[in-house]
Amino acid sequence: MHQDISEILFSEEHIKAKVQELGKQITEDFQGKHLLLLGTLKGAVPFIADLARAIDMPLELDYMAISSYGNSTQSSGIVRILKDLEGPIDNKHILIIEDIIDSGLTLSYLVDVIRRRNPLSLSICTLLYKERKRMKEVPVNYIGFTIPDKFVVGYGLDYAQYYRNLPYVGILKPSVYEGESE
Ligand code: 5GP
Repeated sequence: MHQDISEILFSEEHIKAKVQELGKQITEDFQGKHLLLLGTLKGAVPFIADLARAIDMPLELDYMAISSYGNSTQSSGIVRILKDLEGPIDNKHILIIEDIIDSGLTLSYLVDVIRRRNPLSLSICTLLYKERKRMKEVPVNYIGFTIPDKFVVGYGLDYAQYYRNLPYVGILKPSVYEGESE
């Protein structure tokens, strides 16, 4: 285990099994439909790469990069689009693939943007869902794991751009980020 991690919440094998389960469910739910998986950069990249291969039907992949102003461990809800989708989505079913939902602010902004483009339907899948009071409630269709309100890294999730390549999800020791400026 990496020295900055205090606890592994989900091992590589555990995540793999959950991704297979989600993929099976999504395959059943979207069979015969024109599905586009919308991944959010950069955190959801490992998850969407694994999940797409666990979905057994034709689908498209596209990505949006959105940046949420704030410090490294808390989002502010003020969001900017850094990279947009490649084309219109009004003839597609959209499934947003998120790494984590914390306050809900980032996702709620993204949902507003996508809804305005009139997709055939809009659903949300997140690997991790934090147990806390959300500032914006967004209905989530697929949840991998519910986690305690701790700052986690790995499997795409970063702190200051590091730790994304850890194959597991673990709790980052607070000593690593304590003292950062608000
Ligand atoms: P929200 O807007 O829901 O508060 O936060 C969404 C974004 O904040 C996530 O996409 C992620 O980038 C970041 N975030 C929230 N909680 C965590 C966490 O525990 N660990 C990491 N690495 N990022 C988080």
